[in-house]
Amino acid sequence: MTWSTQPVARQLQADFRNFRLFNDSPKVVLESHYFSAYRGAPVVRLSVDNRSFSFGVLFIQRGLDPEDESHRMIVRHEYGHFLDFLKIGPVSYLAVVGIPSILSKNNPAYYELKWEASADYNGGIKRKGISQETLQRGADYTNKFSPYHLLKSAAGKLKPSPAGSKQQARNYSQILIVGSTATFIY
Ligand SMILES: [Zn+2]
Repeated sequence: MTWSTQPVARQLQADFRNFRLFNDSPKVVLESHYFSAYRGAPVVRLSVDNRSFSFGVLFIQRGLDPEDESHRMIVRHEYGHFLDFLKIGPVSYLAVVGIPSILSKNNPAYYELKWEASADYNGGIKRKGISQETLQRGADYTNKFSPYHLLKSAAGKLKPSPAGSKQQARNYSQILIVGSTATFIY
């Protein structure tokens, strides 16, 4: 057995052996070579630009130290983004989290930005210098884009109307339009 591919095969075997879909240890994720999972979210290990990101899958950069708490925090933060992805859907996620995050990667106050604070809020992360208010503002920001909140705010704008009236028909069609649009973009 002197194949040059053997280390890769060994690492893959280890990833399969350690794979638990509902694993809740960020350390186990950082010990993986190619893939893993965290609380039901698929994880892929990447070495692109030394950056981790999330888009329905957690892409966690390679070379992180499983024993380093600040590195384990990266897994929980990306999982927070994953939850926002589920909450608002891929289209909204790209528009109000993904693209803003890429555009602001050099911002010195990165973790105060609303979409980043929302991920920290979901991931239960407390960073030095980031207040609970900042985290809450982040959660409020992403909540606004969930289909539930879009529908709720549309319903709140409807005028009260007697049954069978033209106004009621108008209200009904408005709910239908907002509801199907929200479902479509989700
Ligand atoms: Zn982030």
